[in-house]
Amino acid sequence: MTKRIGIIGAGPAGLTAAYLLTKNKQQVTIFESDPVYVGGISRTARYKGYHFDIGGHRFFSKSKEVEDFWTEILPNDMLERPRSSRIFYRGNFFSYPLRAFDALTKLGIIESVLCVLSYVKAKLMPIKNPKDFQSWVSNQFGWRLFRIFFKTYTEKVWGMKCSEISADWAAQRIKGLSLGSAIWNAIKPKTRPKNRTNVIKTLIDSFRYPRKGPGMMWEVCAEKTREQGGTIHMGYRVIGCTFQQDKKNWLVKCECPQGQIIDQEFDDVISSAPMRELAQSLQPRMSPAAIRAAKNLKYRDFLTVVLILPDRKIFDDNWIYIHDPGVKVGRIQNFKSWSPEMVPDPQYNCYGLEYFCFEGDQIWAAKDEDLIALGKRELEKIGLASAAEVVDACVVRQPKAYPVYDDEYAVNVEILAKEIEASYPGLHLVGRNGMHKYNNQDHAMMTAMLCAENIIAGRKVYDLWQVNQDAEYHESGEAGKAALSGLRLVPSRVSS
Ligand SMILES: Cc1cc2nc3c(=O)[nH]c(=O)nc-3n(C[C@H](O)[C@H](O)[C@H](O)COP(=O)(O)OP(=O)(O)OC[C@H]3O[C@@H](n4cnc5c(N)ncnc54)[C@H](O)[C@@H]3O)c2cc1C
Repeated sequence: MTKRIGIIGAGPAGLTAAYLLTKNKQQVTIFESDPVYVGGISRTARYKGYHFDIGGHRFFSKSKEVEDFWTEILPNDMLERPRSSRIFYRGNFFSYPLRAFDALTKLGIIESVLCVLSYVKAKLMPIKNPKDFQSWVSNQFGWRLFRIFFKTYTEKVWGMKCSEISADWAAQRIKGLSLGSAIWNAIKPKTRPKNRTNVIKTLIDSFRYPRKGPGMMWEVCAEKTREQGGTIHMGYRVIGCTFQQDKKNWLVKCECPQGQIIDQEFDDVISSAPMRELAQSLQPRMSPAAIRAAKNLKYRDFLTVVLILPDRKIFDDNWIYIHDPGVKVGRIQNFKSWSPEMVPDPQYNCYGLEYFCFEGDQIWAAKDEDLIALGKRELEKIGLASAAEVVDACVVRQPKAYPVYDDEYAVNVEILAKEIEASYPGLHLVGRNGMHKYNNQDHAMMTAMLCAENIIAGRKVYDLWQVNQDAEYHESGEAGKAALSGLRLVPSRVSS
């Protein structure tokens, strides 16, 4: 039976669902609030022929279905890229993942000895019952190594002091990693793992990447969805979703590019819009407890200062983590290293200086010209180019880049998910902000793939909340619970 399906958002989740459903002859309409780009946070923005990501998007998944999907959409345009990244701290670039000899030579003999002494001190006199990230990591590695390799970057990304971040996050992130094993990892001969499914995702040494950036994947996916009969409305923001009890269907209300309001009926609605907004747009209205839960969901935002300059081939890393406390920038992307086709003229390069912020704070609210001036100053301070070399620049803002996992987020998400399941039949939540889960494209896509299967089957075959951060589906029951409990990937505040 053909169903009419409305999809909110043309990011990886919305487009994956749309592609699979139209392939299965379902009638699909996507509403995307962005007037220009599909791809959501995985879009590729463009400026005068330069292409750049929001962050840098590696295509890597432990799920074969996801890898196969990418190959089906772009059979001839995926590059296999080597991963190269370093850490910048006080004038030095350290290899990342760390290499012992490299780290020791760059720290210098005095700092290295001090690091060892501070490690010995941490082992002899550890902080009792460490409750915060700072105490936990210092106990593990010593204060000095904590300060160099953990403190500043963590604080830049999350906007919280390490002494305010709960220790359980550190225990999750760095579990099993002692100084001994870190040193062994750094000095042991490097071999390619036989089985990539055992690889720690953040440390993979190569990944796939569309030759014109991640947006290329989603632009082609959108094109193919249209060819299969789907409709994609760009610049349409969904502002209301009403479950019509009498007709047992949905009325989706949108604000269109010229400001007019339209509505359209659907049998099912798939939403990848942030849970916070969706919950407040539902009719009949959600319970006061659910509305409160929705309003309490929080996000971390992000902006990139893009600087275009002649390519002096100073560095060929994909990105550099900026641990140095003397600058505000958190990471620098070298888009040409992701793919040479990201720049229109091989004589030039395009760097993305990434600033983590909160919507409305000083960085977010600064004028573009002030941010560009800041970016140029900081690039010069780090020593990668002089400000005068920059010939052009622009700023790209990304609200709600990271759903925040604070102390209450899990309870809030559960309240919303349960009420939607019980009282809003035919409404399906998918994706990153759609389910308030901090994760990558593959995970967002897998929730959409299983959602499409549920809709085609006409019943709940899969529980989408059982997809874990590695885009693997866990059956309900004990295995499922264990998978979900491992979701603490972002930090929470120390409870007082
Ligand atoms: C800095 C950074 C680096 C990253 N690096 C990687 C990486 O290396 N590899 C990787 O796989 N993933 C990476 N990710 C994660 C990846 O970007 C996301 O997992 C993915 O984009 C989520 O897809 P989605 O469709 O769920 O959501 P989104 O990408 O957020 O898309 C949602 C879409 O819905 C639209 N929308 C929202 N509300 C409405 C509304 N009311 N009406 C209409 N449209 C609406 C939005 O405009 C957007 O287009 C990174 C993310 C960040 C922030």
